[in-house]
Amino acid sequence: MDIEGEVFIIRKFINYKEKLFILLIALVLLLTACSDSTPELLRETKFVLGTLGNIQIYSSSPKKGNEALTSAYGRITDIENTMSTTIENSDIYRLNANAGVEAVEVSPETLKVIHKALDYYEVTNGTFSIGLGALLDLWGISKVTADDTPKIPTEAEIEEAKNHVDLRNLEFKDSKIFIKDPNMTIDLGGIAKGYAVDEAANILQNSGFNSGFVDLGGDIYVLGPKPDGTPWKIGIQTPEIGTNTVMAGIELTEGSIVTSGDYQRYFIDPKTGRHYHHIINPATGYPTDNNLASVTIVAKTALEADILSTTAFVMGLEEGLKFIEALPGVEGIFVTKEKLVYTTSDVKDKISLMNEAYQYAN
Ligand code: AMP
Ligand code: MG
Repeated sequence: MDIEGEVFIIRKFINYKEKLFILLIALVLLLTACSDSTPELLRETKFVLGTLGNIQIYSSSPKKGNEALTSAYGRITDIENTMSTTIENSDIYRLNANAGVEAVEVSPETLKVIHKALDYYEVTNGTFSIGLGALLDLWGISKVTADDTPKIPTEAEIEEAKNHVDLRNLEFKDSKIFIKDPNMTIDLGGIAKGYAVDEAANILQNSGFNSGFVDLGGDIYVLGPKPDGTPWKIGIQTPEIGTNTVMAGIELTEGSIVTSGDYQRYFIDPKTGRHYHHIINPATGYPTDNNLASVTIVAKTALEADILSTTAFVMGLEEGLKFIEALPGVEGIFVTKEKLVYTTSDVKDKISLMNEAYQYAN
């Protein structure tokens, strides 16, 4: 009995140890499972749309996350192949090549983007214009090709090109567009990047990635807050040639932020030292020449922010600030060449200046 009793006690003891062991294993498994689902930051950079793309998302599954990054870049590349002026057989390439010749069938999304651009052409009294191809070709700063040879056009050349920028020369019939003026061309450089950012962001959000951002060379869409719920701090670049520092940080939880500036794409005339950049003032035919160095727009979509940053830059400080202030849900940060920062009313508390040379003016 005693022996049996002893055996029983030992068994009971082993059972208790077994239980403890099983419990420990379960705990380890649980912890491993938990650490598996802790979101990790995935990042992919790629050269797209003439700029360095940078997409970052928090993902609990590296496999799913990487698949989503691949689809997002795939979408961006599709848009580039559709809307580039230089890629042969893109909608825009074919449209321009057939100016004055015949109507060209384009994809529904090219039609959509062109119509959006035309709406803003109206709203901005022609300040935002996708019809400036003739001028852009003349200046040679816009297209990103290896054989770009920027040159300063003559006054006469500019006046002549200005005769070929009238968007009333676009004729629409079903899904076809005809550029009636044989010397006119379309350029979506001020809008396509924003559209591509939105589309890439849509893909990521629809696949369940709600923390991260899409950045195509300063056209940014924030998908949602960081996993701990805090906003992302987005850097606004110091708008000076040859610097690569941050002028200000701005907190953003979701939505878009886009910057246009005269330091982004330009050439310097070796004879005069003057700098010529890629944002054309349609009224003059010359690169916009006012006291602005950059305009940053915060808006719901990158498409809108892209259009508005280019527009406000051309409008200049006074008119631009008034124009952006009047748009609901849109904020602007205007930086002058004198290093003064002007903002619309509802964005200042989200900004922190990070370059001592820059100060608030309002
Ligand atoms: P962004 O970099 O978004 O400010 O847009 C500048 C690009 O848009 C240029 O590289 C041109 O392709 C095109 N662009 C230049 N001037 C204008 C303008 N006034 N309206 C619309 N697009 C423009
Ligand atoms: Mg733009």
